[in-house]
Parts: sequence; C-alpha cells; structure tokens
Amino acid sequence: MKLVFIGPPGAGKGTQAKIVSMKYNIQHISTGDKLRENIKNGTLIGKKAESYTSKGELVPDEIILDMIKDILNDNSCKTNGFLLDGFPRNLNQKEELDKLLKKMNMPIDKVIVIDVPEKELVERLLLRAEKEGRKDDTKEVIENRLRIYNESTKPIIDSYKKDNLVHFINGLGSVEEISKKIFDEIS
Ligand code: AMP
Repeated sequence: MKLVFIGPPGAGKGTQAKIVSMKYNIQHISTGDKLRENIKNGTLIGKKAESYTSKGELVPDEIILDMIKDILNDNSCKTNGFLLDGFPRNLNQKEELDKLLKKMNMPIDKVIVIDVPEKELVERLLLRAEKEGRKDDTKEVIENRLRIYNESTKPIIDSYKKDNLVHFINGLGSVEEISKKIFDEIS
C-alpha cells in the first residue's frame, strides 16, 4: 500500500502515520523526522536545513527531493509500500513525486487528509512545545507554519482530488478514534 498523509501542523498526522504504517507494515517516511535527525547529527543536510526549520519555513525542494529519492529507492518501499508524512508539501514537490513514482511504476493508492480547526491547532502546538521542547513550536513560528500550510500545502489537496485519491478525516477526538476512522477509509 502506498499512502500520502496531509494535514496542518498539530493535526496529529505524525502520530497517526506511525500507527498506520505499523499496522500495515509499510515504511513510514517523515521528512520532518529525517530533517530533525540530520540537524541533531550535525550533517551537511542538517546544517543547510536548520535555518529554515527553526523559522517554520519550507526547506528548499532540492534538499527534500534528494532525500526522498534515496528513501523511495529502498527495497522495502518497493515491496511493502510506504506512507509519506509531511511530503509533498507544495505543488512542485507533488509534481516531482508524480514523475518519480510514474518512472518507478508505483502509483499512490490513497491520500489521507486530517482536518482540524485552526484555533485547536494553535492550542495543541503550544502544549506540544511545553512537552517536547521543539524549537519550531513558538507562537510566531507556529503561525508561520500554519500560513505556509494554507498557502503552499493546501493546493496539493485539490491536485490529488482531480486524481480521485483524497479521503478527509476529522482530526478531532482521541488518537484511537481517529486511527479507527483512518483504518475504515483505507480498507
Ligand atoms: P514536520 O515535522 O513535518 O512538521 O516538519 C518540520 C519542519 O521540517 C517543517 O516546518 C519544514 O521546515 C521542514 N520540512 C519537513 N518536510 C518538508 C518538506 N516536504 N518540504 C520542505 N520542508 C519540510
């Protein structure tokens, strides 16, 4: 199974992506996690990315696309499938992904969009900032990330709608309730 998860920051997308990828035994590909790992380890990618992630801005497409190409070429993605979490994040990334998957003959099966009202998102993100101490969870950066989601990421949903792949999930409720809704959509 090949899935794309889309949702604003704070929608619980990462949590659900982990649960779903475990259940279906597919590779969980989170560009955000990969970037944080690179930043922590002080790699070249990490050094290039940090000035963007710390402000809540999108890291340049070339860096992200190189990362994604390497991961998708991994055998487990080809045999078991994958779940993309946090990628694609703008129309150019989506178009590049379409081209890549076409070449690899691995079309996306479903796009899951997790929807949560914006006011609830800001509260959740501020709470997460206290708990996890993520540098990109200050109020100013949160607002920037939400603005970028609305401007750059939302248009991808319309593009996937044309391909008839989109399933909307209401992201309000407990983690278990939301997982159940996603399982129902997928199976
Ligand atoms: P996330 O954990 O998915 O919210 O990602 C955290 C941060 O990493 C984002 O605010 C961006 O700065 C960066 N990032 C993650 N995925 C992408 C992507 N596909 N394109 C550009 N930047 C990304």
